[in-house]
Amino acid sequence: MLYQKLAKFFATDIGIDLGTANCLVYVRDHGILINEPSVVAVAEGDNKREVVAVGEEAKRMLGRTPGHIKAIRPMKDGVIADFDITEEMLRYFIQKAIKKVPARRRFLHPRVLIAVPSGITEVETRAVKDSAQRAGAGEIYLIEEPMAAAIGVGLPVMEPSGSMIVDIGGGTTEVAVVSLSGIVEARSLRVAGDQIDQCIVQHLKRAHNLLIGERTAEQIKIRIGSATPQNDEATLEVKGRDLISGLPKTILITGEEIRQTLQEPLTSIIEAIRSTLEHCPPELASDLIDRGIMLAGGGALLRDIDKLISEETGLPVFVSDNPLQAVANGTGVVLQEMDAMAKALAATSAANKKRK
Ligand code: ADP
Ligand code: MG
Repeated sequence: MLYQKLAKFFATDIGIDLGTANCLVYVRDHGILINEPSVVAVAEGDNKREVVAVGEEAKRMLGRTPGHIKAIRPMKDGVIADFDITEEMLRYFIQKAIKKVPARRRFLHPRVLIAVPSGITEVETRAVKDSAQRAGAGEIYLIEEPMAAAIGVGLPVMEPSGSMIVDIGGGTTEVAVVSLSGIVEARSLRVAGDQIDQCIVQHLKRAHNLLIGERTAEQIKIRIGSATPQNDEATLEVKGRDLISGLPKTILITGEEIRQTLQEPLTSIIEAIRSTLEHCPPELASDLIDRGIMLAGGGALLRDIDKLISEETGLPVFVSDNPLQAVANGTGVVLQEMDAMAKALAATSAANKKRK
């Protein structure tokens, strides 16, 4: 009992958004202390792999590594594409976050709350827990990503009325209707930011014989990408390798041209939202007419994606503040609540004892 009390006092509570593109770590009472790409650079030897860099440093190496070093995105193709590397990454981020808190708090294994995609299988759930445990976590709790995002952006998830959250990340888009602290209807599709980048790569190859890397494609999307026609269409110089001559070359592309290439992935996202709405109980669907749809995740930052979704669904659509931090902030709120709940429980049990 004393040990448990001490454990509560000394342990650090950590919330993790294990995203396919970015990993964020929220430390209770401190906020988001880690916010880095989910990338690991690995040196491949004869039959073993050694981690060379993690996060920001590893992302800079993407597509630029010499032969024996590979920059890996362990979560890229769905949930956990590479278990060992995910574990290494978790360990690195957990340790890095813990080093930032006062020494007395580092005494015991941290309590960890991890946000996972809603479509996650039993096996994948086990894998995430095992990885976190081996990475140094004490007690481990999981929360579904859309729920964490909904809480993080401040939707009234506990109320008996429906709210819709759409989290457009790197590898997956999560669409969910929540009510009374539960997910009523959800879709998880593997079309999001990465797929959009891929469309840009393919388009430049096909239309301009220009070969570019994923990172350049992402930059193009962020700089001039949009979901609906813009008043003044931006243009951008893009450098890559000419497929025919094999030499470096520069071309000029327009925002309009990029928008055309984004149509396919954007249509898939809208279809997922539509299908979720169609399967939503009518009472909750009618709540959404007033409440609208809340967007989170990095994909919510694509220019006018809110406008497009609104046009296609007829519902009001909002982009949350700090969409990239929604899930991590949600885990933070839950960590805070977990403690309040523990305190409330302790208080009632103390009151019960007195009564006896
Ligand atoms: P995940 O939760 O899967 O890690 P994030 O929510 O961190 O994903 O979002 C990452 C995605 O958001 C990437 O595909 C990135 O290219 C995209 N993104 C970030 N900023 C912007 C922007 N300004 N415009 C469009 N897309 C963006
Ligand atoms: Mg995410």
